[in-house]
Amino acid sequence: MGTMALHTLSLRALLVLGLWHTGRRSLASAPELQNQPKKIAVVGAGIGGTAAAYYLRQEFGTGVKIDVFESGLVGGRLASVKIKDYEYEMGGSVIHPLNLHMKHFVEILGIPPRKDVPSKMAIFDGKELMFEESDWYIINFIRMLWRYGFNLLRMQVWVESILDKFMRIYQYQQYGYSFSSVERLVHAMGSDSFLTLMNQTLEETMMGEGFSQVFLNDIVAPITRVNYGQSVRINAFVGAVALAGADSGLWAVDGGNKRVCSGLLYHSKSELIPARVTSISIKVRPSKTGATASFYEVSYVGESGSAHSLYDVVVIATPLHQGMSDITFSGFSPPIPSHFPGRYHQTVSTLVHGLLNMSYLGATGPASAFKVSEVLTTDSNGSFISSLSSLDPVHIPEDYKRPPSNETKVWKVFSSQPLSQEQLQNIFLSWDSVTENRWLAYPEYRLPSRQIPPFILHNHLYYLSAVEWAASAMEMSAISARNVALLAHNRWHEQDGKIDQEDLQTRLRGEL
Ligand SMILES: Cc1cc2nc3c(=O)[nH]c(=O)nc-3n(C[C@H](O)[C@H](O)[C@H](O)COP(=O)(O)OP(=O)(O)OC[C@H]3O[C@@H](n4cnc5c(N)ncnc54)[C@H](O)[C@@H]3O)c2cc1C
Repeated sequence: MGTMALHTLSLRALLVLGLWHTGRRSLASAPELQNQPKKIAVVGAGIGGTAAAYYLRQEFGTGVKIDVFESGLVGGRLASVKIKDYEYEMGGSVIHPLNLHMKHFVEILGIPPRKDVPSKMAIFDGKELMFEESDWYIINFIRMLWRYGFNLLRMQVWVESILDKFMRIYQYQQYGYSFSSVERLVHAMGSDSFLTLMNQTLEETMMGEGFSQVFLNDIVAPITRVNYGQSVRINAFVGAVALAGADSGLWAVDGGNKRVCSGLLYHSKSELIPARVTSISIKVRPSKTGATASFYEVSYVGESGSAHSLYDVVVIATPLHQGMSDITFSGFSPPIPSHFPGRYHQTVSTLVHGLLNMSYLGATGPASAFKVSEVLTTDSNGSFISSLSSLDPVHIPEDYKRPPSNETKVWKVFSSQPLSQEQLQNIFLSWDSVTENRWLAYPEYRLPSRQIPPFILHNHLYYLSAVEWAASAMEMSAISARNVALLAHNRWHEQDGKIDQEDLQTRLRGEL
């Protein structure tokens, strides 16, 4: 008898709990409905802002109006350009196989990954190619072993162990947990060891782990240079993200990565407002109940002039740094700066439709035999470029074959300064088009790390791009987007138990 009663009781409890849970997640129970935000603004329609719109819709339901402001093109740092018959990626290009949010986005949007074209890598020291990948895995393996001992294998193990911890964030977010600062988010993934990564250079960290200086110069630096345009003195957290960006199985979105952004905008049923946000100020109004309510007044300039609107929640999804976004915050105490300290690193992306000059690479063989598509560079005086790669279009046609290097094709050069005519003439024998884009691409990761900007600028005003100071990547913006949407929801409904919880790893183990 006794056990029966207990049994029914727990069943009922489960049922009630279950109902409450679905209520929170989707239907929004009656009292909550009255107390939902009515309007939310997102500033920026890159992957961060559009993912934020998607997750905000998921958290707050269909009742709220979501406006997304964009002063340039949807996609932001994900952008493509047409050269001759095809489109090519100019900015953010590759995605890691374990980037689960990006994977989820292409799944729900029904966009396939781009067809894979196998590629080979070489390393250039400014004079000659010091390493060239062969067709044969075993040959590469033996060469690497000969030169660097087990450094390469150990690096894979090291990066994998970091990735393992990194992956925890997906489970926490699945359960609705959010974090009030970048440091707390990073700490939740990998405890103190991850905070240490953020506060040490990649070089220090890897030397401490027993990697050799030669390996750092020859292999690690070329990877940090191609992915972040910077040396091994970047912080070890972003360093590990860079190294993961040299894993196998990297993918891109068919038709261009920016398609995810327009897809998420559409899917989230938010309204795109093509305008530049100029200022955000706080307005306090008396509410029906007699208490005061505060709103954010967003002022913006579009084609039809300037205007402003009131919002309950605002998410800034563009870097608040010199040369990026000029947004004035007024009426806030303490004041919010237009620009946080720290600079963004310039990476110039130059797409050349031309004929490669093999002697620039110090190569003696014929160009027709040069099968390398990715040339990385060491940190030597000779290399004014960070990388040189043969580009494939964003959509790979059925019968596509990458043109050989003795034919005119599209090459992409990354450098920190624009290429001079003379430098172009060094690298290419001839060309018929040059397309240059000067990006303020990602933070200049100098240590000791400056204070990382906050996620919370004010009660319901959030700063998504703060996450870039841990590491900048599409997936990082997506993770931050989900965190900010959860944080906005948890704070709006005063669910403190879902914010900054310690020890989630052990607590959630029981829930699985
Ligand atoms: C050359 C290059 C290569 C890269 N390679 C990779 C890679 O291979 N893999 C990877 O994962 N990441 C890569 N990245 C990084 C990645 O592109 C970025 O981390 C990511 O795209 C950032 O997205 P976001 O939405 O946070 O910011 P953004 O894309 O910068 O979006 C911000 C948007 O806000 C808009 N905006 C700015 N100010 C205002 C305003 N006042 N009002 C309205 N709108 C405004 C901007 O126009 C922009 O569209 C690369 C970046 C660059 C530049």
